[in-house]
Amino acid sequence: MKIKNYINGELLDPIEGNQIDNIEPATGKVFGTIPDSQSTDVQKAVDTAQAAFPSWSSLDHNKRAQYMFAIADGIRARFEDFVAAESQDNGKPISLARAVDIPRAISNFEHFGHAITQFSSESHSMPGVAINYTLRQPIGIVGCISPWNLPLYLFSWKIAPALAAGNCVIAKPSEVTPLTGYLLSKVCKDVGLPPGVLNILHGTGPSVGDAIVSHPKIKAISFTGGTTTGKIIAAKAAPMFKKLSLELGGKNPNIIFADCDYDEMLKTTVRSSFANQGQICLCGSRIIVEDKIYEKFVADFTDKVSKMKVGDPNDANTKLGALVSKPHMEKVLSYIEVAKEEGGKIETGGHQVNLEGRCSDGYFVRPTVITGLSPNAQCNQEEIFGPVVTITPFSTVEEVLSIANGVVYGLSCTIWTNNIKKAHNLASQIEAGVVWINCWLLRDLRTPFGGMKASGVGREGGLEVLRFFTEAKNVCVKL
Ligand code: NDP
Repeated sequence: MKIKNYINGELLDPIEGNQIDNIEPATGKVFGTIPDSQSTDVQKAVDTAQAAFPSWSSLDHNKRAQYMFAIADGIRARFEDFVAAESQDNGKPISLARAVDIPRAISNFEHFGHAITQFSSESHSMPGVAINYTLRQPIGIVGCISPWNLPLYLFSWKIAPALAAGNCVIAKPSEVTPLTGYLLSKVCKDVGLPPGVLNILHGTGPSVGDAIVSHPKIKAISFTGGTTTGKIIAAKAAPMFKKLSLELGGKNPNIIFADCDYDEMLKTTVRSSFANQGQICLCGSRIIVEDKIYEKFVADFTDKVSKMKVGDPNDANTKLGALVSKPHMEKVLSYIEVAKEEGGKIETGGHQVNLEGRCSDGYFVRPTVITGLSPNAQCNQEEIFGPVVTITPFSTVEEVLSIANGVVYGLSCTIWTNNIKKAHNLASQIEAGVVWINCWLLRDLRTPFGGMKASGVGREGGLEVLRFFTEAKNVCVKL
C-alpha cells in the first residue's frame, strides 16, 4: 500500500518524491511505503491552511461540531478497516484495536464536537466601573505530532479539539504507524471537510516533524512522544514563543497495599503492566508492594503473567502481540540484560519469542517480571516502554512515597488500598498528573490529562485542551 499526504483536501505524493518502507511488526515484512515528506510539503500545507483559516475559524461552532460528528461517523462506517490497519501497522492484538483504539478515536471526535458547543469564557465585573470579558479565539495554524503506541487514538485526541476550536491543523502521525492517519484523511475527504483545514503529512521526525516545529506560521505545537524528543521540540519552539503542550514519557508507580481488594488488584495489575505489550505511557512499570503481601503477590502475579499468550495479533486468544519495531524490541531486550547485570532476578519472561508460520520474523517478547532491583537501578529509573515490569517491596507510607516520587518522571500513578484516608493522603503527595485509586486507565475525556516533571508541560483533555488551542483575549469596557 502506498500512503499519500493529505494536503488541501487532496491525496498527494511528497514533492521530492521519496518514500520510506512501512514494516509490519508481526511479520517483519515491508507491506507498503509512506511519503518521506520534507519542509517543502510543510510549506505547501501551511499555504493551504492559511487560505482555509478565515472561513474555518469564523464558521459557526455548531457547524464545526457537525464536521466532527461526520468524521466520527466516517470512521464508524469503516470500523473494521481501521481496526485491521491499526493492528497490522502497530503489532497490537486486533482485539485491542477493536475494543480500545478505534472506539476511542471515534469518541475523541464526538467528544470535542460536543465540547465546543459548550465552551464558554469568563467575565469579570468591576461594579460601577467596567466589565471585562475574555474572548477565546482560535490560534491560527497549529501542529499536532503523535507517537506510534496508540496511533489513531492519540492522533485524534489532538486533531479533534484543535479543529473544533477553529484552528487549521498540520498533523504528523508516527512514521512507524501511518496507516490509520492515512485512512482518516480519506474519511475527511469523503465527508467534505473544507480543503486546507486539516493536512496530514507523513515522514520522519527529524525531517517533516522538525519542519512543522520550526515553521514560523505554525503558532502552537501539541506533541506526544518521548521526553528526549520533547526537549528538542521545546528548545526549538520556545524562542519562537509558540504555545506548547508536551505529553512525554513516564515511569509510573503501581502502589499496592496489603489492605486492597486483592483479586481485583491482581487482575488489573496484569493489564496495567502488559496492555499493548506495555507500550502505553500510562502502564505501571514499577510495581511497589507492601512487604506483608510481597511474596504472595510475586508468586501469584508471576503465575498469571507466565500464562499470557504471546502470538499473532490476528489470533483472538493473543494477549500480547508484537513490539512496534525491531530497534524498539532490541532496546527492550537490552534493558533486560541491564537488569540482570544490576542483580535483578527474572521471575518470568526475559527473552524474545520466535513464533512459527507467518509471524516467524516478528518482534515478540515474553512479558517479563523482574525482582531484586534497587529503586535507583537503571531499570527502575528509565522508561523501557515494553512488556517489562519490576516489583519492589516497601514497609511504610513514607518509604513508598519516596520510591514512587524518586524518578524524573511524573505522569501517572495507581494506588491499591481500601483505606480511603491513606489513599487520599498519598494521592495528594504523589508527583503525577493522573492518579488512579483502585482502578487503571478509567478515562473521562473531560478531565485534565498530562504529566509533571519530565513527563511534560500542560494538560490536554476536556476544556483544558480547548483553552490550549485558543488565545485568551481580555476586553475591558468602561461603564
Ligand atoms: P518519539 O518522541 O520518538 O516520537 C514521537 C513523534 O515525534 C513521532 O511522530 C516522531 O516522528 C516525532 N519526532 C521525532 N523527532 C522529532 C523532531 N526532532 N521534531 C519533531 N517531531 C519529531 O516517541 P515514540 O514515537 O517513540 O513514542 C513513545 C514515547 O511516547 C514514550 O516515551 C511514551 O511514554 C510517550 N508517550 C507519552 C504519552 C503521554 O500522554 N504522556 C502517551 C503515549 C506515548 P517519527 O515518525 O520519526 O518517529
